[in-house]
Amino acid sequence: MAGAVLTQNTAWTNVEKAITNLKAQHHLDAARIAATPPETLAEWLKPSGYFNIKARRLRNFCVWYVAQGELKSLSKLDTTTLRHALLSVNGIGPETADDILLYAFHRPVFVIDAYTRRLFSRLGLVRGDEGYEALRHTFETALSGAKSHPVAVVRLFNEYHALIVSHAKNVCRKRPLCAGCCLAHVCPSGDTWCAPNSTLQ
Ligand code: SF4
Repeated sequence: MAGAVLTQNTAWTNVEKAITNLKAQHHLDAARIAATPPETLAEWLKPSGYFNIKARRLRNFCVWYVAQGELKSLSKLDTTTLRHALLSVNGIGPETADDILLYAFHRPVFVIDAYTRRLFSRLGLVRGDEGYEALRHTFETALSGAKSHPVAVVRLFNEYHALIVSHAKNVCRKRPLCAGCCLAHVCPSGDTWCAPNSTLQ
């Protein structure tokens, strides 16, 4: 959950450094973070970028999380109620809320991020500028049909999103490596990026 808050607008490697700092200070704990002054937290979170904002957001989230009774109480809420509750916390937007729902609460909610928009718009399957909820609904509907058991749906969403992130980080980067891409044979954008005289290179 801390990672979901800290990864906003930064690479995961930077988040890992910030989490390592929290661990080193024995503060990777909601109640301890909630009781820590934002200025102190900001020092520990420096590697994650935007550290003053993130310190306030993480602390704000932890104050709320502790007040709600933490994992034990929140786990009793149905997914819709829990999503609304998360979105009511200052600094928690849809992507962060869905990251928390999928990866921490194991709920069947798909995460839409910049990697998903980039990869699927290049594949010609979405425009890429659709609203968050519309895209989430599209992915959830398309993927849910493949599995019926809720646990299997969560596993599928988890793995599918992780594969999107991996492919977008390693191959379909901002400057994509189309020549070695396993999707090149079905991707209408590959020719554009890889054409010898492409101005996009
Ligand atoms: S062929 Fe190129 S643009 Fe298409 S998915 Fe692969 S890396 Fe991305």
